[in-house]
Amino acid sequence: EAGREALSRLVLDIPDHPEPGVVFKDITPVLSDPAGLAAVVAGLTTAGLDEAGAPRVDVVVGMEARGFILAPPVALALGAGFVPVRKAGKLPRETHAVSYDLEYGSATLELHRDALAPGARVLLVDDVLATGGTARATAELVETCGAEVVGVAVLLDLAFLPWRRALGDIDVTSLLSIE
Ligand code: 5GP
Repeated sequence: EAGREALSRLVLDIPDHPEPGVVFKDITPVLSDPAGLAAVVAGLTTAGLDEAGAPRVDVVVGMEARGFILAPPVALALGAGFVPVRKAGKLPRETHAVSYDLEYGSATLELHRDALAPGARVLLVDDVLATGGTARATAELVETCGAEVVGVAVLLDLAFLPWRRALGDIDVTSLLSIE
């Protein structure tokens, strides 16, 4: 489809970043392209709509750092709030924390304890799904608050990595799949 092809041309392959052997997907050219940015925000927003086109989420959670760029415009489009999930030590008040394995290394993510009301319907938004570890850890944080993950929405997924196994039966919307 034409839109998908135009989008994929704006994602650059950066060999050996951030370390040898890794091909990093640079999505910043998508963000700087007005049509690309609009297409991505519109595409991610559909993940938060029900079959009748009505919003089905109360909150959009974005993961540091590139989820912080994409989640707020999606939240605005859905009439939802935005909540950040951050790397360890950044949030100023009491948090829940989860540690997880990354594609390269390991990390801890945190969420303010009072950021999500019990029963809140939450859409997770990030730029890339690789191993799925970040999204899995974020889903655990959301569930620890008693809130409900209605789905994960990303600009692109790396289909050759095991993110599906990490996410179980969580609904995933990905605008581009890299084989
Ligand atoms: P995962 O936890 O699924 O292995 O990795 C996804 C997380 O790492 C996301 O937060 C994403 O921003 C970052 N990430 C991993 N690989 C890439 C990549 O190739 N390009 C970009 N832009 N982000 C990546």
